[in-house]
Amino acid sequence: MPAKSPVIIDLKFIPQEVEDGLKGAFAGREVINLADPAHKGRDLSGIDYAVVWKSAPDLFSRAPDLKVVFSGGAGVDHVLTLPGLPDVPLVRFVDRSLTTRMSEWVVMNCLLHLRQHRAYEARAKARVWEDLSQPEAAEITVGVMGLGVLGQDAIRKLGVMGFKTIGWSRSKKEIDGVQTFAGDELDVFLARTDFLVGLLPLTDETRGIFNAVVFSKLRRGSPLGAPVFINGGRGGSQVEADILAALQSGVLGGASLDVFEQEPLARDSPFWDMGNVYVTPHVAASSDVKALFSHVEQQIDRFESGLPLQHLVDRKAGY
Ligand code: NDP
Repeated sequence: MPAKSPVIIDLKFIPQEVEDGLKGAFAGREVINLADPAHKGRDLSGIDYAVVWKSAPDLFSRAPDLKVVFSGGAGVDHVLTLPGLPDVPLVRFVDRSLTTRMSEWVVMNCLLHLRQHRAYEARAKARVWEDLSQPEAAEITVGVMGLGVLGQDAIRKLGVMGFKTIGWSRSKKEIDGVQTFAGDELDVFLARTDFLVGLLPLTDETRGIFNAVVFSKLRRGSPLGAPVFINGGRGGSQVEADILAALQSGVLGGASLDVFEQEPLARDSPFWDMGNVYVTPHVAASSDVKALFSHVEQQIDRFESGLPLQHLVDRKAGY
């Protein structure tokens, strides 16, 4: 039997985390973790598989024989822009734990805004005992842009909390009990949305989509006042100058941002200090490396058994 192809690991996650995740992964295969200086300058020709995230620019020239490339995350914008990416199947990471984490982040942020958490925190700091008029979740419509793996799970869990939910995607979706919109129905969708949740991939079409025009079309007249913007997708999809202006002018009443045009977010960004803005450092749904390697191993098994690969990226669409 021919020897099993090694797997190249080129991930910019904390190396120790990668090391721990590799224990017991890829049975019977050599693992070439490029974070290990022992592999510096090593000939990578003849190797079939690579798992990548923000990889070294020379990876594909060093590994010219790859048969499948695996993204270390659910998004692939960082892979599609890698120089020399070969024309082979590209598989993205889809995993229950990652999906669950994103839904936790989305539900948590919708609840923080619904329950006016920042206003109560400020009052608690000032030792002010005062209640605010409190709508219930059913009075708020959360509009989710992006109805893929993450968007659909978030919608399900927001529904459990009692929020009304609607969604928008490129192609029309059928989701039980949820009104869905597609493509050029965006304006109708926005006009019904109180909390706008972004769970879109970054593509040529979605770059800068969360902008002043979109914010100005959101529903006015929610029981909480101005609409709220929550983005867990990609920072390149948002125009931060427009978010800032919308928050300052009251077009938006609040925001939760996990992703930014430039990461890490600059220390002098005004978002850090704004009372109605929650900032998290691109951690809404971090990849669990053990789960990632187990997913890659399953896909390699499928590939070598002649079964179709799952979670393939459509290069033309960009996600
Ligand atoms: P999917 O590919 O499963 O879903 C993407 C969704 O976006 C689909 O519904 C798709 O429409 C829709 N979409 C794409 N382009 C357009 C467009 N031009 N107009 C309208 N809708 C569009 O992705 P996931 O749900 O798994 O992940 C979404 C994104 O979340 C990832 O690409 C990644 O960037 C981000 N992410 C962020 C993380 C974080 O920690 N902050 C962690 C993980 C992911 P259709 O259904 O018609 O194809």
